[in-house]
Amino acid sequence: MRSIIITAGGHGKRMLSSTPKQFIELKGRPILFYTIEKFLEFDPSIEVILVLPQDHISTWENLCKQHGFKHNLKIAEGGKERFHSVKNGLSLATGDIVGIHDSVRPFVSIDVIDACYKEAAERGSAIPIMSPKESMRQLNGDKWIAVDRSEYVFVQTPQVFSRGYLQTAYEQEYKSIFTDDASVVEASGREIHTVEGNEENIKITTPSDLNWAELFI
Ligand code: C5P
Repeated sequence: MRSIIITAGGHGKRMLSSTPKQFIELKGRPILFYTIEKFLEFDPSIEVILVLPQDHISTWENLCKQHGFKHNLKIAEGGKERFHSVKNGLSLATGDIVGIHDSVRPFVSIDVIDACYKEAAERGSAIPIMSPKESMRQLNGDKWIAVDRSEYVFVQTPQVFSRGYLQTAYEQEYKSIFTDDASVVEASGREIHTVEGNEENIKITTPSDLNWAELFI
């Protein structure tokens, strides 16, 4: 069986309104609904674990009632850092292969989800990556120096692993370099495999991302 942990466990920066990003509506429905539905479209029997801060759980329940969003998902409580939120979600996961996905990435393609779960089933880990299109520079002292962009990639989600890898990895002490799950799993000595991501798989972060999101919907 497969599991997916959807992370919305932080209190992060708000956009224009006081609404947490994952609850902002696109064409009248919260972003989070689209994200969850994408994984259910991929695999209707996937185990969905939603990580929310304690004080957002009643908002979530009200939104579900209001929109008639029927689901059968598990809810885990958010932690201090993303690391702790994922660890809480992981404690509820029972699938052999477990993915972790940002709640504000509703436009991941089914093909990318499928590729990640297949690769992780075969090799233990899989993350979607994209090559940068812009030129890149690196801070060196007080100067920005040109670098070879072919040596860099952007990392998206879902990041998918065998549950055993994740459980061992999340036993580690938290470190500030743990910005995603791959960095945690890598620090536990496992190799990270990659698949090609999709360009529309943006992390809705700024008001202009919302314009793109309206377009993609
Ligand atoms: O802060 P950042 O945008 O990198 O967060 C990435 C993901 O981790 C988001 O989906 C966010 O909701 C989640 N997160 C979390 N618990 C925290 C902080 C962030 O689940 N304490």
